[in-house]
This record gives sequence, structure tokens and C-alpha cells, in this order.
Amino acid sequence: MTTIAFIGLGNMGGPMAVNLHKAGHAVQAYDLFPAARERLAAAGVPVAASAAAAAVDAEVVVSMLPASAHVEGLYLGDDGLLARLAPGTLVIDSSTIAAASAIKVAEVAAARGIAFLDAPVSGGTGGAIAGTLTFMVGGEAQALERARPLLEKMGANIFHAGAAGAGQTAKICNNMLLGVLMIGTSEAIALGVANGLDPKVLSEIMRRSSGGNWALEKYNPLPGVHENAPASKGYAGGFGTDLMLKDLGLAQESATAVKAATPLGGLARSIYAAHSLAGHGALDFSSVIRLLQKH
Ligand code: NAD
Repeated sequence: MTTIAFIGLGNMGGPMAVNLHKAGHAVQAYDLFPAARERLAAAGVPVAASAAAAAVDAEVVVSMLPASAHVEGLYLGDDGLLARLAPGTLVIDSSTIAAASAIKVAEVAAARGIAFLDAPVSGGTGGAIAGTLTFMVGGEAQALERARPLLEKMGANIFHAGAAGAGQTAKICNNMLLGVLMIGTSEAIALGVANGLDPKVLSEIMRRSSGGNWALEKYNPLPGVHENAPASKGYAGGFGTDLMLKDLGLAQESATAVKAATPLGGLARSIYAAHSLAGHGALDFSSVIRLLQKH
């Protein structure tokens, strides 16, 4: 049994913390948002009154926060968690943030004798609930081996991408591809439907043909095709348009830094930005199909 502080109990962090608790670990959970704490308490997970209180005596800290600023705010500075944790503590940050931010936090952690891993995930809220996430890990191999038994309770695939920050780089490459393929999938479905095809029949044909992809497999953007996809729940939960927009922005920053050509990634960022500006930032990113559908 490991004593774990889990910080950030949103769509992803909530179920991940529940899985660690169910596996018999002593989890102390914390989120700024009271309703998120109440959800965890209702699931039987002990909640703390602050991040610092959750981290008292923690052998491992796991965080699942929205963006770089939240992660730097939690860990850095005189009031940050890194200033409070005992040397030897293992910190696993599963948020999707800039690789540069992850490297900055890892360096401060290393100077205090604390092991830090960037371990962003893929697999959506369904994967977080089922404990089948894919972890893309950056940091020391030895720290990953310490983390592995915990990651295995939350995920099914664990990859060591490389040194600090490498997990984040792998993650934004994957999400740039996901953002592009959701728009492409939406375009194809909207085109077929506008020409009189049944969306379920068309989706099944493409799923089993050369256009087959993850969205067609389990995350169809049209309501009623996949019962558990956000599209069938009013685009609630899932992976917010604004989070996808953030990831595509990170991909563009990273592309700019190395002069990489990412034309479709850049266009996809603009399409999600327009969708967000139209008031849909909080809806799951698959709602982008609404921009392309006949109303
Ligand atoms: P979310 O907005 O549902 O949850 C984030 C939680 O963090 C919120 O409950 C918020 O109150 C809390 N929080 C923010 N700052 C905090 C702080 N300082 N202390 C404590 N709590 C704090 O977001 P999510 O969908 O769970 O995503 C979390 C991260 O995982 C993001 O970086 C996202 O890009 C990534 N991600 C999400 C998905 C997905 O499908 N939702 C998939 C893969 C990766």
C-alpha cells in the first residue's frame, strides 16, 4: 500500500484517483472545486482540505490539472508542493502541459531530491474510468519503475518516451493527430449524411474500410452511434474543445521552436478556436461536427 496525494479530480483525475483507491492505496484527494471533492468523497475516497494537507506524509503525488500554469502554480514557489515534500518523494504529473514547463518542474524537483515524471495520458474519460489509459512517460527510467505499479492500476499501456518532457512531446503529437482526424471524420460523415446516407451505416462502412480510426471505433461525433461517447450525452464530459485547443496550441509552439511544418495541425487549431469562440469551448471536442453539419 502506497500513501498517495491525488490533486485535480476533474473528468480524468476523479476516476483515476478512484482506481488507485480501489486498488487498496491510501489516497488523499484534493481539488479546488468543491463539487469535485464531493464526488470523490461519495465514491469513498478520503478528501483533504488543501493540496498541502493531501501531501502530508505522501510517498507519491499524482496531479491531473488543466494546463501548464496550474501545474507550475501547484509545484513551484515558496508555497508550492515541491518546497514541502520530503526528499525521495515521487511526483507523477499526468496533466497535458508544455514540455518546457514539465522540464522546469522536473529540474526544481531534482534539486530537492524529488523524482518527477511527466506522464500525460491518452484514452479519454472512458479509459480513465476503465483503468485502460495509455501513459506516455518522460523522466528517469528508475523513477518510472517506481511509478509502474501505480500506473498499471490506472492504465493498460505504459511507454517510456525518453527524458524529462518527452512524455509531453509524445502527447501533443498524438493529440494533434486526434484533433485533425476528428475534423476529417466529421467532414466525411456530414458529407455522407447531406447526400442522404444513414450516419450509422456510413460510420460502420468507414470503420471497416481504409478510413477506419479511433473516432469511428469508439468516439463517433454524431449522437446515437456510440451509446457511451460524449456525442450521445449532449457532448458533456469527455475532452473539452478548449482542452483540445490548448493541446493544438502547444503543438504549434513546439513546431515553431523546431521549424516543423504542421499545416493541418495549424488549420485544426483555428477550426477548434472558431468553435470555441462560437460558445462551445466546454463541449466535448467531437461537437466540432456541428460546424460542418447542415442545421
Ligand atoms: P477538468 O477540467 O475536468 O479537471 C481539472 C480539475 O483540476 C478541475 O476539477 C479543477 O478544479 C482542478 N484544478 C485546477 N487547478 C487546481 C489546483 N491548483 N489544485 C487542485 N485542483 C485544481 O480536466 P480533465 O478533462 O480532467 O483534464 C485534465 C488534464 O488531462 C488536462 O491537461 C487535459 O488536457 C488532459 N487530458 C484530458 C483528457 C480527457 O478526455 N478529458 C484526455 C487526456 C488528457
